Amino acid sequence: MRDPVIIQCAVTGSQPVGGDGPSNIPSTPGEIVDAAVEAWQAGAAVIHLHAREEDGTPTQDPAIFRAIVDGIRERDCDAILNLSCGTAGGNSFGDERYRVVAELEPELASFDCGSINFGERIFEGDLPLLRRMAGAFRVAGTIPEIECFDSGFVGLALQLRDEGLLDDPLRIQFVVGIPGTGVPATPAMIEHLRSRLPDGALWTVCAPGRHQLPVNLHCLAWGGHVRTGIEDNRYLRRGQGATNATLVERVARLAGLVNRPVATPGQARELLRIPARPG
Ligand code: ZN
Repeated sequence: MRDPVIIQCAVTGSQPVGGDGPSNIPSTPGEIVDAAVEAWQAGAAVIHLHAREEDGTPTQDPAIFRAIVDGIRERDCDAILNLSCGTAGGNSFGDERYRVVAELEPELASFDCGSINFGERIFEGDLPLLRRMAGAFRVAGTIPEIECFDSGFVGLALQLRDEGLLDDPLRIQFVVGIPGTGVPATPAMIEHLRSRLPDGALWTVCAPGRHQLPVNLHCLAWGGHVRTGIEDNRYLRRGQGATNATLVERVARLAGLVNRPVATPGQARELLRIPARPG
């Protein structure tokens, strides 16, 4: 048997709901809770969460995150909850983005480690902001999942590590194939990014749409962890809408084919070295 794989499911994201395609994006707090529990039951050890208001509008409001987290825990779900510190689809900026870390002290939260063109926008993360954010994570006892959209993001993560602001093992998520970033979802790009990581770093890759499945396979084959979910891809195959649970089930089946056991939430906490918490 090879190393266990942590399956992470990104259940909703911050894309607008509606429009073309299947209407399968969990878009209210209640739907996000249901999707998280179903993904966990299908084998996801980590659930990546964005918050939405009742009308589907993405938000970084900690009160809405808290309602979603409480709703998931009330269903006896023990998955690691990884809260987004992104821009809520362009609705939240600067230090506002990570207020949820200070207020909820989650086990894991996203830490976008730099600035980049992102679609039609610029995603901002200057070094002073990254230092303040790293400090807030440390105070909260929250492990940063370091989102790296290109090689420069990895360089900044290494700089923050040298400055003593990020700890080993680095928990890295590469994000490739996003339109407007100029970073293609290719094995060569993923392997270049991986080549920059220090020993012991854990890695996974987020890739959108049709790139998700081949990138999932790449990660399973080469010792990475796996991210799936409706945030990144709404289709099981061409023309057939997915659910979060069906996407997780597919990754779990593929993991079995390459002899990688699927980590339970408890095993994932050990692998990610998430400290045990009282209660
Ligand atoms: Zn996200």
